[in-house]
Amino acid sequence: MVAYVFAPPPQPSAPVAGQEARFPIRRIFCVGRNYEAHAREMGKDPTRDPPFFFMKPADVAVDAPAAIPYPPETKNFHYEIELIVAIGEGGRDIAQADALKHVWGYGVGIDLTRRDLQLAARDAGRPWSWGKSFDLSAPLAPLHPVSKVGHPAKGRIWLAVNGVVKQDQDISELIWNVPEIVSIISRSVELRPGDIIMTGTPSGVGAIVPGDKVTGGVDGLGEIAIAIV
Ligand code: MN
Repeated sequence: MVAYVFAPPPQPSAPVAGQEARFPIRRIFCVGRNYEAHAREMGKDPTRDPPFFFMKPADVAVDAPAAIPYPPETKNFHYEIELIVAIGEGGRDIAQADALKHVWGYGVGIDLTRRDLQLAARDAGRPWSWGKSFDLSAPLAPLHPVSKVGHPAKGRIWLAVNGVVKQDQDISELIWNVPEIVSIISRSVELRPGDIIMTGTPSGVGAIVPGDKVTGGVDGLGEIAIAIV
């Protein structure tokens, strides 16, 4: 048995719909600009340039529904609704044709973003981390195993703030689809069981403030709700 100088932190994990067992989270990969209209609203050309990635620490995941305190050091705190892919079987250099075999399940999450810090970093050629990787920045609704929901390739993805719909597209509009993303990530790093991929957000991102109630969903994968406090 390994000895530690203090008790190790708890294993980060996500809830699973309809069962008590939880999905252990290893890493959180996030895809930048993966819907054309969102790329445009961020002032970028929505070409099929190779996708790019950033990461969040596993322990910023939080079970939704959740009350999320407005985070420090931002005046422009944004929601981004995303389709979540949960990896169950690792691998490297995974072919697109084999990629879905590595997926354990799917879900709905929100890539919470300190947009002012992200854009200042982007425009200065610095890392996005402080804009994207902060406490409680990845609320996740319960995941659904492939055994129950299959591999959804189309369906509405939406988000509303205080009941007003702000994001409303279809996951079939992903520039890089799930098999492509899994395959591409696995060429750079060895994917491992427990890895989570946040696949990018549709257009319509915007600011939220304390008191706002944020809801969203992906057809067939349930809904997510957070309150900003
Ligand atoms: Mn995002």
